[in-house]
Amino acid sequence: MADERIEEMKKIEKVKKINSTVPSEKGDSGMLSDLRSANFCRDPAEVDVVVLTKKLVEISSVSGNESELAVFISEILSRDFEVQKQRVGNACNIIATRGNPRIILNTHLDTVPGKVAITEDEMYLTGRGSCDAKGSMAAMILSAIESAKEGMTDFGLVFDVCEETDFSGVKEALALVKPEVVVIGEPTNREMVIGQKGLLGIKIVCKGKSAHGSTPEKGECANTKLVFALQKIIALKLPEDERLGKTTLNIGLMNGGNAINVIPDSAEATLEFRTTVSNEKVVELLVCINDIADVQVLFSYEAAITDAPQNINMQTAVVPYFTTLYFWSKIARAFVFGPGDPAFAHTENERVEKKQIIEAKEVYKGLLQSYTTKKEKIK
Ligand SMILES: [Zn+2]
Repeated sequence: MADERIEEMKKIEKVKKINSTVPSEKGDSGMLSDLRSANFCRDPAEVDVVVLTKKLVEISSVSGNESELAVFISEILSRDFEVQKQRVGNACNIIATRGNPRIILNTHLDTVPGKVAITEDEMYLTGRGSCDAKGSMAAMILSAIESAKEGMTDFGLVFDVCEETDFSGVKEALALVKPEVVVIGEPTNREMVIGQKGLLGIKIVCKGKSAHGSTPEKGECANTKLVFALQKIIALKLPEDERLGKTTLNIGLMNGGNAINVIPDSAEATLEFRTTVSNEKVVELLVCINDIADVQVLFSYEAAITDAPQNINMQTAVVPYFTTLYFWSKIARAFVFGPGDPAFAHTENERVEKKQIIEAKEVYKGLLQSYTTKKEKIK
């Protein structure tokens, strides 16, 4: 029994966090030179993908403050790729290409704010950005460098800024590349995401006529109309798609009336549909409330879906949330795949499973090889 307990203690000791550091929010100017001297730029192909992930996590890159990370990555890539810096506001996207890219590996440079101690045990690496999306970034960088060393060409990498805020980076990057396939690095827990639901924001406004609360017959209650309108919408059979599933509804906000003793003259609700058919079809269904409410479209992003990538034998999935698949799918076939459990993204214990980073590097390499057939002579 005692021996077992000692063994157990040893095990715990083994997985105990090896070290713990927290980067400064604005990045540490001394860190970049440390990294340069640590062989990353001289021979990045020799670097372990988990070690590189940790280095990327150590360089803070909260949205709007991605510059230090962008400089570091462009130095790593400049030996094997043509590296362009594309200015977006105060920051820069990094676009690294070989030949005319048929396939692009893409993820974002930025993270959400908030410090998360950088720690490591046998299974996990923790730290802000480890899961979303620096594990993907490291795996993409090293799979690309290895492929370049093997003479592959016609592929590229795009690392964009401000994905966590307004997507301004990816929107600009679309203008500079014309790939057939894009692989977006986001934590997907070993699944290849081939589609996502669309987003449709709707505001419905009901008008009434105010009157004293004691004489409702002299007024027209906007709140009652809103309730009727919402009942009709709730009763709708929302459309389904074979692959993307059900269109869903959330009545996110409701607002109506001014006081308990006044018949309300105005009431409104904002609704968000997660759509699986064209958004227009959903808007058309809302004619059922035309007699009692005005319908306004606040925003509309269509669902996107494609076929699974060739030669990749893995679980595919569709997701109900919004990713940059929306933008990339306008110009290419796009998939989302990356190491990490999305449940840890943006949390105070953000972490990524090391094994998944190593696996992701091989998946990215496989994808590069399937879509990039041309080989250059190795110098
Ligand atoms: Zn992300």
